Amino acid sequence: MIKVLKFGGTSVGSAANMKKVAEVVRHEGARITVLSAMSGTTDALVKIVAAAAAGDRDTVESQLAMLTDKYTTCIDGVLGAHREEALGRMKAAFELIRSEVGAFREYTSERTIIAQGELLTSAIFTLYLNETGMKAVCLNSPDFMVTDEDGKVDTCRLREALAPVAADQDTFYVAQGFICTNNRGEIDNLGRGGSDYSAALMGAAIDANEVQIWTDIDGMHNNDPRVVDKTSPVHQLHFEEAAELAYFGAKILHPTCIQPAKYAGVPVRLLNTMAPEAEGTIISNKTEQGKIKAVAAKDNITAIKIKSSRMLLATGFLRKVFEIFESYQTPIDMVCTSEVGVSMSIDTVTHLDEIVDELKKYGTVTVDRNMCIVCVVGDLDWSNVGFETLTMEAMKNIPVRMISYGGSNYNISFLIKEADKQRALQSLSDTLFNK
Ligand code: ASP
Ligand code: MG
Repeated sequence: MIKVLKFGGTSVGSAANMKKVAEVVRHEGARITVLSAMSGTTDALVKIVAAAAAGDRDTVESQLAMLTDKYTTCIDGVLGAHREEALGRMKAAFELIRSEVGAFREYTSERTIIAQGELLTSAIFTLYLNETGMKAVCLNSPDFMVTDEDGKVDTCRLREALAPVAADQDTFYVAQGFICTNNRGEIDNLGRGGSDYSAALMGAAIDANEVQIWTDIDGMHNNDPRVVDKTSPVHQLHFEEAAELAYFGAKILHPTCIQPAKYAGVPVRLLNTMAPEAEGTIISNKTEQGKIKAVAAKDNITAIKIKSSRMLLATGFLRKVFEIFESYQTPIDMVCTSEVGVSMSIDTVTHLDEIVDELKKYGTVTVDRNMCIVCVVGDLDWSNVGFETLTMEAMKNIPVRMISYGGSNYNISFLIKEADKQRALQSLSDTLFNK
């Protein structure tokens, strides 16, 4: 069984946690272990970049001092024989950062600085595996994660480059998540939180049987534990269900990770480094028939309604409306239409005023702010009966601004006031899961 394991920043965030990770890697027989930078590193490096651009050397030095402390403590905690080597790596990485700060070039310096977190963390971890007697090799992800003009990773090249890894059963490979080489040959990255995406692509490239995403929570829950009582873990999800939930900031899996795994048919398992025996959540191409899986919500939503008698029997009305949003690069999330009006929800309000001004040319416009999308996810194929009634029943005392059903086989969404969110989520949990 070929497995790719990805560990987030908290999982490798201290010496003690790194040791737990090594245990898991050995136990699972990970072919490739994809690592984020130790928690807090990327944030600190981003601060260094901003300070460098502003000529603020004090902040650069204070952040580097903090990182020196953090990495030295970690190295001291995990390494014996290779301690000096790791400290040397750390010093070299921080010197490189200082020299980039000294001759700061927009973009390239930024990307070079930010890459050091993943590079250093993976180097230390590999040395630790070696010290525990495991045959481990650290790969350099920018050698094979190469993006094109659109920022898409070249998957053919990746597959070819990783063929020897796919064939080698005897080595534990370690790789950096998040970082890559861009189409100009410079070091770059896949965007914040991009390590999940790296792991999914590597898993697909070596025909892995499973990609495991290790974080510090027990998989996905059926509702937001910070908002409602009595949530429980969801053990199985379809990729489409996970995709619906990912938008809602179900934080444990980055949305970009789903597509490559789904296409390659590689199941993704979400697991907890702090409780490795917990079952977690498996996401695959299997649907659990007739089951509602989870409820999620997203705040800070704005609803825009445009009413126009011109819409009646007209063609091209919706296109004109959507084009306005497109021209301001504002994605639309929910849409509901009637014969004389259309309501849409957005979560980016940067260009709201301009959008509203342009929409006014076509009809009467109303805006509702501080709204919240509540989304119910599960096997909601239209031929199933009863689920619509059940969710409506749960929402019976909540004023609902929009309802969307039938867009996919996996969800029903409600737009409500943020102020009603807690009540709505609790009622949905009580009706759908806790009866
Ligand atoms: N270290 C990067 C970040 O903090 C990538 C990741 O953790 O996925 O965004
Ligand atoms: Mg992450």
